[in-house]
Amino acid sequence: MGFRTDAIHAGQEPDPTTGAVTVPIYQTSTYVQEGIGKHKGFEYARTQNPTRSALENNMAVLERGVAGYAFASGMAATTALTQLLLKQNDHAICSDNVYGGTFRLFDKIVKHYGVDFTYVNTSNLRDVENAMRPNTKMVFVETPTNPIMAITDIHAVAEIVHRSGDARLVVDNTFMSPYFQRPIELGADIVVHSTTKYLNGHSDSVGGVVVLKRKDDADRLQFIQNAAGAILSPFDSWLVLRGIKTLPIRMEAHSTNGRLVAKYLAEHKKVQKIYYPGLPTHPGHDLARRQMSGFGAMIAFDLGSMDAARQFLGRVRLCSLAESLGGVETLISHPATMTHASVPAEQRTKLGITDGLVRISVGIEDVDDLIADLDDAFG
Ligand SMILES: *Cc1c(COP(=O)(O)O)cnc(C)c1O
Repeated sequence: MGFRTDAIHAGQEPDPTTGAVTVPIYQTSTYVQEGIGKHKGFEYARTQNPTRSALENNMAVLERGVAGYAFASGMAATTALTQLLLKQNDHAICSDNVYGGTFRLFDKIVKHYGVDFTYVNTSNLRDVENAMRPNTKMVFVETPTNPIMAITDIHAVAEIVHRSGDARLVVDNTFMSPYFQRPIELGADIVVHSTTKYLNGHSDSVGGVVVLKRKDDADRLQFIQNAAGAILSPFDSWLVLRGIKTLPIRMEAHSTNGRLVAKYLAEHKKVQKIYYPGLPTHPGHDLARRQMSGFGAMIAFDLGSMDAARQFLGRVRLCSLAESLGGVETLISHPATMTHASVPAEQRTKLGITDGLVRISVGIEDVDDLIADLDDAFG
């Protein structure tokens, strides 16, 4: 089936008891059993919930994996992955400008379990190659990165990772969604998402999902999901399922607006630097064209100073100053003090996350209204 058909139907059958077209919210903690050992495959809702299963099966189809598992947040999903792939004395490689919360999890928690992390610019294949060790078990890539939209060649990194032992390539696909980028098709072993962003798409739910290529990894992650227990609730599973039905048309609308806002910003004299993979001037533009089928709607731009950023962010009205991204409404943020506040200042500067950097998640409002709002904010 085509992607749009799968987005609406994959993993979802009309309800067997009532014929309800939409998967019901199975708001139950347990299921009655007909006798000892006699049940319909459902015992306790941490282990199995039909609403959650529908979302998990849907995502497995959209991301071309064998199975998916939904978690209470994107960070809970990544935590489960570290439980799947890493143990004491293992080594992991991670993109050096991943989502701030991912860095915080690895650096402040997982590292203390005796796992060694190396942070490299994964856009540079030589750096990935040089960082690989015999005990490397996980290579974690975010592409495009947050917030400066650096692109990593998933296919090429997969080749490097798979040359050595049993390391797995994990790709955080939150920014593109499977509509624009499918890492497993490009060679990755595992895809992780914050469903909080584009998949749910309406800024009204927090969640995460993992999709895996290998059956053995999938079985083990299912065990971890149940044993560690950070599951997505039935209601949130239902919200994300509902969001995914319109993912293709939302992503198209986001991308169209993203391109127009990027063009406006690129031409503005107060914008000193702009990061958007859809612009031919972006260093990852050609690679982005090859491995993504759209450029999305995340843009970062540098206004030169904290004062300029503060003034600009204080003046926007239609665009909301807020963390998060990927909702239908336009959100604008200041990475240095918001999403990336937990990244040390020195590291931030190295990554280009300056005090003047502003990030915008372009929504699907009328683009003329968005550009008028930005124009007013520039003063
Ligand atoms: C938001 C985000 C996360 C974390 O997800 P939560 O749902 O907030 O826990 C991870 N990666 C990226 C790229 C994100 O944008």
